[in-house]
Amino acid sequence: MPELPEVETTVAGLRPVLEGNRLTLVEPRRADLRRPIPADLRQRMTGARVIGLTRRAKYGLIETDRGDVMIFHLGMSGRWRIDPAELEKHDHLLLETQENRRLVLNDPRRFGSLDLVRADEVDAFGPFAAMGPEPLSDAFNGAYLKAVTKGRKAPIKQLLLDQRNVAGLGNIYVCEALHMAGILPSRMGGGISKPRYDKLVEAIKIVLDAAIAAGGSSLRDFVQPDGELGYFSKEWLVYGREGEDCACGAPVLRKVDSGRSTFYCRKCQS
Ligand SMILES: [Zn+2]
Repeated sequence: MPELPEVETTVAGLRPVLEGNRLTLVEPRRADLRRPIPADLRQRMTGARVIGLTRRAKYGLIETDRGDVMIFHLGMSGRWRIDPAELEKHDHLLLETQENRRLVLNDPRRFGSLDLVRADEVDAFGPFAAMGPEPLSDAFNGAYLKAVTKGRKAPIKQLLLDQRNVAGLGNIYVCEALHMAGILPSRMGGGISKPRYDKLVEAIKIVLDAAIAAGGSSLRDFVQPDGELGYFSKEWLVYGREGEDCACGAPVLRKVDSGRSTFYCRKCQS
């Protein structure tokens, strides 16, 4: 499942193909993904020039010179393919540029989404309206996390996955960062000290930056046509390692809560 670093890497991969270029073809190939694709997407995007690509949480934003922003989410299985040799069943959006580059958004499970909003309305876009700060921004720091969790009895892991507290953090990165910071996932958010929150924020940024860097290096390997953007694998310290040894020698434990796995080390984390 694509998480924040994968989306960041995807946007970086799309940028050289799209930025500054005019879209000569914009063709939705079905009416909906998780929700309907805007009926006027083709008309508003065709002929427009792409002026910028950015990321917000797990969404990619493609802005045009007409003041529109196409917002995509990769859901569980979405990925972009660059210059595919041929179209496949699950290619739901086809773009072509003036340079005859082709991009398709492929999403077999269709949990992703495509939306189109005016550039000055991006902040008010439904999923963004109540969203917390970006985890890699300066606004996300120990003091902020201490303040936003004040009096909260919920486990810190749950608070970090709540998009209202911090945008775009997923299960893998929360497990890894809590391990790096030495904090038990089940610890009550309101009871964690400021120094520990400082350490946690630092760990979150390190884990995300490392994943983005790994994605960037795997991106450079996409020299062949049909390069698929969106996924890369990485070695995790605790995630997916139940029963294996943590670096400290103790076994990595796994706890399942409402269908979601938490991986942690009882010796390293308290
Ligand atoms: Zn350990």
